[in-house]
Amino acid sequence: MITPAEWAEQNAAPVAAALLGWYARTSRDLPWRRSADPYAVWVSEIMLQQTQVERVKEFFSRFLDRFPGVAALAAADEQEVLRLWEGLGYYRRARQLHAAAKRVVAEHRGELPRTATELAQLPGIGRYTAGAIASIALDLPEPIVEANSRRMLARLVGYDKRLDVAGGDEPLWEVAARLVPQAGAGRFNQALMDLGALICTPDRPACDRCPVADRCTARLTGRVDSIPRKALRRSTVARRELAVVVRRGARVLLVQRGPGEWWEGLWDFPRLTGSSRRFAAAGKSSPLLAPLHVDEARTLGSFTHAVTHHRITLDVVACTAARAGRAARGRAWVTPAALATLAMTSPGRRIARLLAAAAIPNGQKTPCGAKKKAAGGTRGARYQAQRK
Ligand code: SF4
Repeated sequence: MITPAEWAEQNAAPVAAALLGWYARTSRDLPWRRSADPYAVWVSEIMLQQTQVERVKEFFSRFLDRFPGVAALAAADEQEVLRLWEGLGYYRRARQLHAAAKRVVAEHRGELPRTATELAQLPGIGRYTAGAIASIALDLPEPIVEANSRRMLARLVGYDKRLDVAGGDEPLWEVAARLVPQAGAGRFNQALMDLGALICTPDRPACDRCPVADRCTARLTGRVDSIPRKALRRSTVARRELAVVVRRGARVLLVQRGPGEWWEGLWDFPRLTGSSRRFAAAGKSSPLLAPLHVDEARTLGSFTHAVTHHRITLDVVACTAARAGRAARGRAWVTPAALATLAMTSPGRRIARLLAAAAIPNGQKTPCGAKKKAAGGTRGARYQAQRK
């Protein structure tokens, strides 16, 4: 029996020919594929991590219009970068992209490094992204393995071991390294990813349309459904939180998410644990709200959203503050107009829209406990999506 790497060695030439031919016939016209500018490729690859292609299309052009090159991105204020990223999720990507742009300006005279090894030294650029930039923008024969190509390669070579353990996909990196051609590496790698996303899908892959079906080990041995091995799923954790819209005159109180928190650097409405029924007790003991002498809560609505494996039911209440409290870094009283300009968490943005829709004048009381559903019902905001 041969190893996956040996299989790749023996089949490299016909697999490359089949994939390059398929890509020439079927490649999608995507905004980032119209340029071989390493910066554009880099931005697109960071955006595409865990985000669907259709979603990225909306953001990519807008981001490049505002930050057309490394220097413009490096010179930007982080809040503006986050604001343009708002809605894409996984904001750490944006902060690291920004930090990396500053490093490229400071240490590489504004030019992205031209090897995968050097690229991988930059913040937010891992082994996959370095390989993608090096192959797509510089046509270097660097391998890539991401969610879609991992699945497709595992089936192609019949690799049925666990992939969701440390180093589990290392044999597939070796396969990818042996398959990637010396010329046309960028097109080959994009073909691998497209084939995984569009043909070799997790369920019911379209083997009858696959250009490497005649060589696919999983198909030839009847194991398409069992390869790759299913990853162990983390169970969902349910939480209940309370978002508080604190008004003072025409302004509302926002807090900025701190280091290590979800949505670090973004603005949100203050949060308490528990439901709206517990507001009186929770508000009095909150170091943030207690000094503001807030009145009783009015219910604005409730919705659910998901962050990683947490499913959060968020009750939203409004109250009025008698005092402004101490000025402090990471908190701000803002006008409704200013809400539109700040980078906000997605639940925070949803609450801002809810506020605009409800347009409850300051001081008017909606009966507490009258559960008014937020616009959009209880559909969760899912951040985990695969590149498709
Ligand atoms: S033949 Fe089927 S299982 Fe094999 S790589 Fe192609 S689509 Fe995937």
